[in-house]
Amino acid sequence: KYRIGILGMQGATEEHASHLQQAGHEPILIKNRELLETVDALIIPGGESTAIWRLMKKNNLVDAVKQFAQSKKPIFGTCAGLVLLGKGQVDAEQSVHLGLMDVQVKRNGFGRQRDSFEANLDVNGMKEPYPAVFIRAPYIESAGERVEVLAAYDDKIVAAKEENLIVAAFHPELTDDNRFLELFLSLVEEKPVLTV
Ligand code: GLN
Repeated sequence: KYRIGILGMQGATEEHASHLQQAGHEPILIKNRELLETVDALIIPGGESTAIWRLMKKNNLVDAVKQFAQSKKPIFGTCAGLVLLGKGQVDAEQSVHLGLMDVQVKRNGFGRQRDSFEANLDVNGMKEPYPAVFIRAPYIESAGERVEVLAAYDDKIVAAKEENLIVAAFHPELTDDNRFLELFLSLVEEKPVLTV
């Protein structure tokens, strides 16, 4: 049983909390940096990435989340969380986000006609397809060498991993399938115990 933080600025926080509870873990809504220091891993939920980003700045959580990542604690970014963990968009003038994962992300990449949809994804390391729910989803336009691609849809990267960071363009908290959550939680277990 882990204490898993859910970045509590805006978005699908409740859904992640009940998903974690069903899997036997303790969800902690993170609204300030003090609480962040008490959790084993962090989920950045879906929502409106610009709103989440604005509230992160207001609540002094930008540097705190960067330090959390640099301390090698696992972070799972879903949908807007993927947008926030990445390095902005290929054609954007500047990167406005955390830039923790070496990926460039196209917001709302599947366009209006495909606002939301479900797809069975072949995921690297999973035997059976994963039922993914996409809602105004982004996709990864380009990824650095150290990024491991986990899944693609329509030739677009929709799930990836880089060391302690995992991202999904879809919403794993909206299905009963726990395999993405388990993949994320396996990173907590992998973490070596440092003794000084
Ligand atoms: N389109 C949203 C954004 O870029 C993400 C949508 C979602 O998280 N479901 O902020």
